[in-house]
Amino acid sequence: MNAEIISVGTELLLGQVVNTDAAIVAQALSGLGINLLYSAVVGDNADRLRHAVDTAISRSDLLIMTGGLGPTTDDLTKETTAAAAGKKLVLHEESLRRIENYFNEKHVSENQAKQAWLPEGCTVLQNDNGTAPGCAFQAENGCTIIMLPGPPSELTPMLHNYAVPYLAKGQEAVIVSHNIHIYGRGEAPVAQMMDDLMDGENPTLAPYAKEGECLLRVTAKAPTAQEADRMCQPLIEEIRRRLGDFVYSIDIGTLEELVVAQLQKQGKKLACAESCTGGLLAKRITDVPGSSSVFDMGCVTYANAAKEALLGVPQEILAQHGAVSEETARAMAEGIVKRSGAHIGVGITGIAGPDGGTEEKPVGLIYIALSDGKETWVTKRSPIGRTKSRAWHRHCAASQALDMVRRYLGGMPVVADYANTKQK
Ligand code: ATP
Ligand code: MG
Repeated sequence: MNAEIISVGTELLLGQVVNTDAAIVAQALSGLGINLLYSAVVGDNADRLRHAVDTAISRSDLLIMTGGLGPTTDDLTKETTAAAAGKKLVLHEESLRRIENYFNEKHVSENQAKQAWLPEGCTVLQNDNGTAPGCAFQAENGCTIIMLPGPPSELTPMLHNYAVPYLAKGQEAVIVSHNIHIYGRGEAPVAQMMDDLMDGENPTLAPYAKEGECLLRVTAKAPTAQEADRMCQPLIEEIRRRLGDFVYSIDIGTLEELVVAQLQKQGKKLACAESCTGGLLAKRITDVPGSSSVFDMGCVTYANAAKEALLGVPQEILAQHGAVSEETARAMAEGIVKRSGAHIGVGITGIAGPDGGTEEKPVGLIYIALSDGKETWVTKRSPIGRTKSRAWHRHCAASQALDMVRRYLGGMPVVADYANTKQK
């Protein structure tokens, strides 16, 4: 079944509203195994909308419209689409009652009542979060048309509760995807390593770059979800075999989520001492719900005096090696473990830029240390290639710290052969 989406709204064309509805619908179609071939945006203009709908009906088996079902005069989707499909609009009494109940009024205005006029013979998709109902029906040529309201808070539940079950009845295939998250190897080398696996048609394999990380998506299509899932597994195993412990998770979206889960499982606590990341590591960990049971404390020690006073970094180390040095990172990690009640301490110090770099210590040079109170490991990030932003360096340093914690907790070598990083 080939589908297309038309999102209606001048605000979308002006860039004032991002077309998240289309993304939500696209994901649902993919889950149903329906091929989406086109996705268009049309402004609130009857002629252009009619043209887009005519084209869609003539070439697709399924057309999903989003937006323009409301009470105002610029809401033209229903009238225009029904006319293109050769259907009259008729009053749907039950929808009118729902609108009256919504406003707690016996007689709503003509504009509000307009929303209860729907294509004759359609299946009404109830709006549990607003006034405009959606609908599903067939055009004269057999194309299935579904109309959904624009506000995502109305579209999303209507889609999942009513439109997807309506479509699922006629579907023979389901698509299942698994995301393999990788830290420490870039998209290009990963794609090269997987070159011979990329040609498959079912399952398929595709690489994606994520900020400072990379992911591989394995997707299979089968009559049932279990069958599609089973088809993905051998490919996932082969990828794991090739990439080893650079694979940090299957389907867990972030390093911080994974690390919090690992800490919870092992009943361990983490503390961090941050300089150039300015609290970003603590922020990312505490973004994860439930992190309070595993996160002990975070210190942002920007000034040397703060590193000395709060972490006990010896003045001689700062004087002799500088704040951005392996020795300082080590002392920060050891200091935070000693001064907190945590099992693991992380220290991060570096030059995020854009200023402050020297030939000896360039922008992007960052030392990251992990200490468990007995042993300490340090990695060094050295800048290579094109100039990266301050945000990039900070994000990547926090990610690398998280990866070191993941490795420590997983019983792997804490310091991997990271691209961009020197082993210690
Ligand atoms: P309403 O009853 O609110 O008028 P409607 O179905 O007529 O609903 P629109 O008038 O097209 O929908 O849009 C209402 C609001 O919904 C927009 O101002 C916008 O904030 C949001 N919206 C519309 N379309 C989209 C879209 N494709 N993606 C994300 N948000 C959207
Ligand atoms: Mg509207």
